Amino acid sequence: MLAYLNGNYLPLDEARISPMDRGFLFGDGAYEVIPVYSRRPFRLQQHLERLERTLAALQLANPLSKEQWAEVVQRLVDDHGSEDQGVYLQVTRGAAPVRDQAFPRPAVPPTVFAYADRLPTPSAELLATGGTALTAEDFRWLRCDLKTVSLVANVLLRQLSAAAGCTETILLRDGLVMEGSASNVLVVQDGVILAPPKSNLILPGVTYDVVLELATANGIPTQVRPVAEAELRSADEVWVTSSTKEVLPITRIDDAPVADGRPGPLAARMNALYQDFKNQVMRR
Ligand code: PLP
Repeated sequence: MLAYLNGNYLPLDEARISPMDRGFLFGDGAYEVIPVYSRRPFRLQQHLERLERTLAALQLANPLSKEQWAEVVQRLVDDHGSEDQGVYLQVTRGAAPVRDQAFPRPAVPPTVFAYADRLPTPSAELLATGGTALTAEDFRWLRCDLKTVSLVANVLLRQLSAAAGCTETILLRDGLVMEGSASNVLVVQDGVILAPPKSNLILPGVTYDVVLELATANGIPTQVRPVAEAELRSADEVWVTSSTKEVLPITRIDDAPVADGRPGPLAARMNALYQDFKNQVMRR
């Protein structure tokens, strides 16, 4: 598998970075995961804009222009060869000679890394039965809108559901639904999609945007507003969305069924719309 590292292309298993890299020492960096369908990146501009926003918040200059990123992504995709892929991009503040939390002075070059892998979309079986979730109190920091590689809180929160054999951990803060440990959460009540609003407490998901756009374009009502834990527990449907999970219905939460415990009709409709939209975009 090919990787891109600091301007060079090389086999992934030959890519090396310094143990002094601030990504390794502090989680001081940004990342993105871009889904690729039929060898074409999906919503690439939106992913690159989110990377730009995260880097700006980290006070890191974007090492590549959008055109250069697009070139790197396409080269990795072409080399990998699978029709559907996930491309991972990461930029860290680089390797400084001394371990100090403050930014290195003088600045050091960032570490820029990317590779393409297969896209682990949900299996037909999982879509048919729906996924399962645990809930947990969200103990992450107050900048969950940034896609940084400081993911240890997400790791611990996800592990709660992984250890219980569940698909995702749904995060609650002060009685409100935030998002999943690696996904956004949407709730359906009486035919309306309820979407927790974007804020510093959730990641602005590219898939979340696509789903809300598709809903609006197809006359499915949406409400972007805070969603209470009680609404999650009494929902007709609960979905998690992400570039890799796409639109996955959740049919059990904390061992209680969501409605009748089967994926709901709106999930099936949204999934069909999502798959159609993907295919349309890829044909353009
Ligand atoms: N929220 C979190 C915490 C995530 O890690 C992710 C994706 O990995 C998402 C939401 C969904 O974002 P996207 O739809 O852009 O993949």
